[in-house]
Amino acid sequence: MPPKTSERVVIVGGAIVGSATAWFLRELGFAGEVIVIERDLSYRYSSTALSAASIRTQFGCAVNVHMSLFGAAFLRDVRRHLGADADIGLVERGYLVLGDKGSVAARRECAAMQVAEGAAIETMTPAEAAARYSWLNTADLGIATTATGNEGWFDAWALLSAFRRAARARGVTYVEARATGFIVQGGRATGVMLEGDTPVAADWCVNAAGPASGALMRPLGIDLPVSPRKRTVFVIRAPLANAGFPMVFDTSGAWIRPEGEGFICGIVPDSANDPDATGDFEPDYALMEAVLWPALAHRIPALEQLRVERAWAGHYEVNALDHNGVIGPHDEIANLIIATGFSGHGLQHAPATGRGVAELITRGRFEAIDLSPLGYGRIRSRTPIVESIVY
Ligand SMILES: Cc1cc2nc3c(=O)[nH]c(=O)nc-3n(C[C@H](O)[C@H](O)[C@H](O)COP(=O)(O)OP(=O)(O)OC[C@H]3O[C@@H](n4cnc5c(N)ncnc54)[C@H](O)[C@@H]3O)c2cc1C
Repeated sequence: MPPKTSERVVIVGGAIVGSATAWFLRELGFAGEVIVIERDLSYRYSSTALSAASIRTQFGCAVNVHMSLFGAAFLRDVRRHLGADADIGLVERGYLVLGDKGSVAARRECAAMQVAEGAAIETMTPAEAAARYSWLNTADLGIATTATGNEGWFDAWALLSAFRRAARARGVTYVEARATGFIVQGGRATGVMLEGDTPVAADWCVNAAGPASGALMRPLGIDLPVSPRKRTVFVIRAPLANAGFPMVFDTSGAWIRPEGEGFICGIVPDSANDPDATGDFEPDYALMEAVLWPALAHRIPALEQLRVERAWAGHYEVNALDHNGVIGPHDEIANLIIATGFSGHGLQHAPATGRGVAELITRGRFEAIDLSPLGYGRIRSRTPIVESIVY
């Protein structure tokens, strides 16, 4: 049954996932009230504003490939969707994902899956990769893959601004306030509690609070294993031309891509050095010195001479179960919808997520993409669908 026009959706978190959800609700004809609760409308610490803002179809899970294809099509056509002034600076360029000698069979299988799901993936031998990328050390590689479309990067802030502008133009209300939790009575979410004990009544609640989404469920005793993990992005210069340079995912876990006249790069710290980072936005310069620089210099010898210009740190909303998004209603509270846990790929998946959540509310089911594999049920049953390509 379609929702009544008197219904109200309250979304906690007004960055890319919350704003995409709000916009898609209107796009799918939701005529009730849509209220977005955002604790900081400057978005200074939101993952969205601190992201590397890249999109890839090279994932290990089919559902992630589908979400990226949806996202790539949305980004290409962003002006039609969000307005003529939506200038997100999309650069379409395939990632270069490297694999070691032991990973060849698995990576070939993964590439075949990506192609079968609709991605445009090319597989290269180390010799072919060396011929194409003269700056690359291929000595210890077994395989390299890239895409001929649907991958690249864009301006996250511009995309967020465009979603917000377009949502507001369609009557979505943004309220600057901190939510302290969801109000649940008789198995239904009836609203969101704001700081100062101010309730906001709701017919539907959406948890789009990013890295804070797990903590937001805690007062209800709901287990959502999503927490903030610090990721530092380094802005570097090097004696290496960046024209035509791809986003590189190295076997070490390091990544690097062009930005302006130079590059940005990063690496996931090892698990012993990756605690809950609530409140910590201090760039981890030691990580560059000890881990990232040696890894980059090994793979791209010209980076032996890199110079760090600056760095920033943001938070991944890491889903400890399987590094995949959690999208869908809570299994016992059907009108409390969760949209979080993307663990480093939530920006590119925000259009598909927003569409999916809006479909659940307006149509009662997923339509554009079957996102049910990402539902909350797997958290309850501890059944991971592990994403193998994580950076
Ligand atoms: C360094 C870095 C690099 C990344 N690179 C990529 C990439 O290349 N590609 C990609 O797809 N993704 C990338 N990501 C991940 C991506 O940025 C996130 O997955 C995505 O932005 C998540 O969006 P969100 O709206 O869920 O979360 P956020 O952007 O964090 O938004 C959540 C919002 O909720 C608000 N909020 C939280 N708690 C409350 C509360 N209690 N009350 C009210 N408001 C609240 C916050 O203020 C925030 O604005 C990267 C992330 C980082 C940190």
